Amino acid sequence: MQEENRLRCQLIAVCKRLEQKGLVAAADGNVSCRLGRGRLLITPSGRAKGDLQPLDLLLVDDRGEVLAGAGRPSSEIRLHLLVYEKRPDVQAVVHAHPPMLTAMTLAGMPFPADALPEVWMGFGPVPTAPYATPCTREVPDSIAPFVEDAQAVLLERHGSLTVGRDLGEACSRLEKLEHAAHTLFYAHLMRQGPPEPLTREDLRKLDRIVGRRPAG
Ligand SMILES: [Zn+2]
Repeated sequence: MQEENRLRCQLIAVCKRLEQKGLVAAADGNVSCRLGRGRLLITPSGRAKGDLQPLDLLLVDDRGEVLAGAGRPSSEIRLHLLVYEKRPDVQAVVHAHPPMLTAMTLAGMPFPADALPEVWMGFGPVPTAPYATPCTREVPDSIAPFVEDAQAVLLERHGSLTVGRDLGEACSRLEKLEHAAHTLFYAHLMRQGPPEPLTREDLRKLDRIVGRRPAG
């Protein structure tokens, strides 16, 4: 019970961070974490993230059935269930609507993870999943090809999905990507064109530092 209370408080702290940093507005987005085997805590549908309290979170099983709490689970629960099914290493999932990252998908610009060394080391490639109707099965289907390898996926015209070994990591990854998107946007304006990627050799060196298999 102590662990559950700790995670409830952490998850609420993440919701407040997302709202304060403008990464969600009102009831946008959803956050979840594992609570032991086959059980998750997840935000309820239709509630402003900044107003949530620890006891508002729902306890659900790995099929999304509510075990405890009032209200319906988040409308994108299928997205979370898919990640937990495919990624035993993931303990927490954040789906948000970050303005700059989402704008990049609207502009049809793939996220250039290979332009900034620390983004490359932290994430490797950051794919964009093709447009899918929110709140339907199309959304998990759209991310399925990417979910096994990626720490972050952008959802075209919709937002972002970041995962982590805990709630703090899943949230920090989103903050880092949105921050990088601002930098890339300014660089784009200054150069009137997309930023140059690092060379393949520079990328390989970064891969070696973090022990990642070279991409592509
Ligand atoms: Zn959404």
